[in-house]
Amino acid sequence: MYDPNNIFARILRGELPCHKVYEDADTIAFMDIMPQSDGHVLVVTKEPAADLFELSEAGARAAIATTQRVARAVRAAFRPDGVSIGQFNGAAAGQTVPHVHFHIVPRHADKSLRGHASDMADPETLARHAQRIVEALAAPD
Ligand code: 5GP
Repeated sequence: MYDPNNIFARILRGELPCHKVYEDADTIAFMDIMPQSDGHVLVVTKEPAADLFELSEAGARAAIATTQRVARAVRAAFRPDGVSIGQFNGAAAGQTVPHVHFHIVPRHADKSLRGHASDMADPETLARHAQRIVEALAAPD
């Protein structure tokens, strides 16, 4: 059952702020407020769906297309050794916000990840990181 007052629904309605890096008709992407590594971005569908199982096929297509597009920009901006893409369904799977989303997490061979949803980042740092991704999205391929 979808809760229209979950934190991402409130961000989508503009009731709460976020460090946005990308938006189109079906999706929005913004910095994770408790990043597991620098450059951790969340891709959120505009369609109200609690998890992947509630999402329409069109919504899933839009979400993965945006995830690929933004992940390319994250990779260009942060030059990680790899990029993890994650998506959790249900509390037992680690989902803490009940609105479907994809994690884009830069990975570095010599660094372990910070905890999931554990350490709040400094807003100025998040704004700087968002700006790097926005610039990479605007750069020609
Ligand atoms: P989940 O555990 O549902 O897969 O991921 C939810 C993510 O949302 C976590 O990584 C957490 O750090 C992030 N998060 C929680 N609250 C907020 C918020 O208010 N703003 C943003 N930008 N991210 C949030």
